[in-house]
Amino acid sequence: MCGIVGYIGHREAYPIIIKGLQRLEYRGYDSAGIALYDGSDIKLSKTKGKVVDLKDKLESEISTIGSLGIGHTRWATHGVPNDVNSHPHYSNSGDLVIIHNGIIENYDALKKELIKRGYVFKSDTDTEVLVNLIEDVKRNEDIKLGKAVQIALNQVVGAYAIAVFDKNKPNEIVVARLGSPLAIGIGEDEFFIASDASPFIEFTKNAIYLEDEEMAIVRRGKEVKIRKIKNDALVDPYVQELQLNLEQIEKGGYDHFMLKEIYEQPEAIKDTFRGRLLSKEAMVKLAGVEDNMKKFLAADRIIVVACGTSWHAGLVSEYIFEDLARIPVEVEYASEFRYRNPVITEKDIVIAISQSGETADTLAAIKLAKSRGAFVFGVCNVVGSSIARETDAGAYTHAGPEIGVASTKAFTTQITVLTLMALRLARAKGTISSSEFRHHLIELELIPDKVEEALKSDAFVQTISDIYKDATNFLYLGRGFNFPVALEGALKLKEISYIHAEGYPAAEMKHGPIALIDEQMPVVVIATKKGHYEKVVSNIQEIKSRKGKIIGIVTKGDKSVKELADHVIEVPETIECLTPLLTTIPLQLLSYHIAVMLGKNVDQPRNLAKSVTVE
Ligand code: GLU
Repeated sequence: MCGIVGYIGHREAYPIIIKGLQRLEYRGYDSAGIALYDGSDIKLSKTKGKVVDLKDKLESEISTIGSLGIGHTRWATHGVPNDVNSHPHYSNSGDLVIIHNGIIENYDALKKELIKRGYVFKSDTDTEVLVNLIEDVKRNEDIKLGKAVQIALNQVVGAYAIAVFDKNKPNEIVVARLGSPLAIGIGEDEFFIASDASPFIEFTKNAIYLEDEEMAIVRRGKEVKIRKIKNDALVDPYVQELQLNLEQIEKGGYDHFMLKEIYEQPEAIKDTFRGRLLSKEAMVKLAGVEDNMKKFLAADRIIVVACGTSWHAGLVSEYIFEDLARIPVEVEYASEFRYRNPVITEKDIVIAISQSGETADTLAAIKLAKSRGAFVFGVCNVVGSSIARETDAGAYTHAGPEIGVASTKAFTTQITVLTLMALRLARAKGTISSSEFRHHLIELELIPDKVEEALKSDAFVQTISDIYKDATNFLYLGRGFNFPVALEGALKLKEISYIHAEGYPAAEMKHGPIALIDEQMPVVVIATKKGHYEKVVSNIQEIKSRKGKIIGIVTKGDKSVKELADHVIEVPETIECLTPLLTTIPLQLLSYHIAVMLGKNVDQPRNLAKSVTVE
């Protein structure tokens, strides 16, 4: 998964592409590269490392002029992250240059064939195979670039968003997509190409999102022509008006995107239930659920498919759906589900959760579930994303762009949407009374203010972080609704501080992890008043007897845990099913501060990328 950017128009392409790549770095940051047409030739520069390294390199050697160019920030799939494997890649003649996001699965067979024909390869990438395949087709058939791209892509198995241009025809860029996102920004006599709209948001609000198996020729001064890759049919371009603004994608005074996004949660949750949670009318309105109510009511069970943090949100929803709406729920890792030959029937509802809406395993799980007749409902954040398009219905989280690689506001807004769904279904099924329903709505509406209050623990969490930042292991424990929160807390710490951490259901501790506890081991225990409180207090006693260091996440005013724990962090009181929306806040802050104190790259942790578009 990588970020791609392109520009063709009347401005200098270089600054637009560099800035665009910086905005797309959440998609990968193994290397960066840029190719510009300078009026007579292609100027190509690339380097292992971040966009800023490319910028440093380029600003000493290029005062580039040129209003056509493409750029790439890579998350390597084929070939180690080094200079040679960085994109863009030339074809053998040096006429064509390409950037690619995705994987060409049959690259090896194609490469062998091309080698037989005399092609040589400098890199280990699948991408270099593709650009030479295009060149080979173009040369053999003596056709234009667009046609050659189309014929070549019909021989390719895999996923791609590509942009390619020919130095002999410097008036056009050819783009195509299958499985990886690609947006075309439409300005006045200029076009922008990018993996998402953030690189061109200050230039235009009009964009076309290519669908899978579509390609487009973007020509200077001409209309964009979109065609189906398979059968060449012309497609009417659908130009969308973008809602994104620049402020949303910049840091806004915070040191890191992650911290900004943690602090955005009160607003993000409000945005999630805006127009959907109507407490005065005692109503929940979710079009995707309403329009398909019959299906939901007839469902035998719900299967949630997701990965990473979204999977944890799915686990929280298991407790909520079962408790409120009395529907059996199974929560599956998409990557396991898709390869397991699962039993799926037409009476199953599959809920697919993904922040980006591009997660490859989740997409594949959706396709599998659909092929077996299940109704698939998507919960994602990115509007117009592949999952949003691939599912039968869905609900956006409306969290706004999440740039920090470690997910924060995506998690809480996913839980919010799933809670709204569960409440709506519970009401329709009559599994909760109207007064309970109303009470839940009122409590949910209070959550943004309570998150705001939970955020006030920040300075204290910072003090605790300083005490435990050198620990080599952490244990996170929770029960019921807060067991998934323990998993999520541990994941956050691992992701950004590289400290080993495990999340466990508190009662399971005695079946193994208790052996790890000694005076060095910090144990974070979620022990809110609602939800097996006494049981968790007993678990805390057990840790205490083994001299573990206890950090309790407790309800405001708690006394029992305070007496036992080394430290307690308070969160406001709420009803049990909503506690995860509050208990998760100090855990996000704890991982954030520890990572900062250890000097880690919080927004771009090593080996990770924001949207995992490869399986
Ligand atoms: N498969 C290509 C590579 O490894 C592109 C990976 C990406 O999407 O960044 O270079």
